[in-house]
Amino acid sequence: MTLPRRKSRPVKVGNLIIGGGAPVSVQTMVKASPDDINAIMAQINEAAELGCNLIRLAIPNRAALQPFAEVKRQSPLPLVADIHFNEHLAIGAIEAGADKVRINPGNMKDWEAITAVVKAAQQAGAAIRIGVNSGSIRPRKGEDNRDLATALSEDALYYLERIEAMGFDQIVVSLKASDAPTTIAANLAVAGKMDYPLHLGVTAAGPEEDSILKSAIGVGGLLAQGIGDTIRLSFTGSPAAEVRAGKELLRAVGLLRDRVEIISCPTCGRCQVDLQEMAAQAKARLAHIRKPLKVAVMGCEVNGPGEAAECDVGIAAGKGKYALFRDGKLLKTITETEALDVLCAEVEALAEKFDD
Ligand code: SF4
Repeated sequence: MTLPRRKSRPVKVGNLIIGGGAPVSVQTMVKASPDDINAIMAQINEAAELGCNLIRLAIPNRAALQPFAEVKRQSPLPLVADIHFNEHLAIGAIEAGADKVRINPGNMKDWEAITAVVKAAQQAGAAIRIGVNSGSIRPRKGEDNRDLATALSEDALYYLERIEAMGFDQIVVSLKASDAPTTIAANLAVAGKMDYPLHLGVTAAGPEEDSILKSAIGVGGLLAQGIGDTIRLSFTGSPAAEVRAGKELLRAVGLLRDRVEIISCPTCGRCQVDLQEMAAQAKARLAHIRKPLKVAVMGCEVNGPGEAAECDVGIAAGKGKYALFRDGKLLKTITETEALDVLCAEVEALAEKFDD
């Protein structure tokens, strides 16, 4: 099923388009020290090989600007400079070639500082992400009882309106909380009120094993409703892990179809074959195929034939044998010993003929 997507305007970030119907892009952030160009480039190149589309680097001080300029020269990916507090760093990063700067207007000094950043971005053709986080919402006297999702959405719309009034529209917006429900509620609150692209993420989401579920719910929950133009899954972990998980999330919500999808049942007491091993082997042997084919590996006759028949190719187990299906039709019965080879051969043959 193809999900309907929220319509957003396109924003150009280097050679990447965010929004405007472009594929949802995957981002990560460099974790290496800002002065270690080799380590930075190793992380960027690994992320690019894994399919990352855009990468962000922290610019904590003026000393980080010169290495940033060199990284920009070497990077295969567009670069986002992550700036807090200091407008001079944002302007310096734009002059050093940043394709986008991420600012949180809530922790910039004043509107004069923000205006200077917007002007620099406008002149250089760089984009700006207005990033509003739960850790830095705008203090408002007498309105402290706002719930967090409301505060995030009101702040984002307020900043957006003021920056838009400067005649600048190359804007991406993000609203992040450290839990999934607040992140979802905040993004839902703004999604229908403006048409700028939304960058999705759950902030400070913890180590990979904790973040992955929070992000799957927070980011995936929005994507499943058609909301979101670019994503970053943040882990206390490597950029490569963030990219792998981001791509998996896009596959899980059906927004990326770039390989064989294995549909396998959880097995139960009815299963009389080693289905876990069969599914693992099939996945490994078909991993090289870059075609969006569905392959079923099912444990018995209860749901097996139905699921297998729904897929491009499938096998459903019986007692010591499997039924082989292709395009919904039963082709033949095969032994357990030959099943993996026969299944893989069928998928390979189908992939050869597959027309993108
Ligand atoms: S397909 Fe059969 S073996 Fe697999 S979970 Fe369902 S009933 Fe159990």
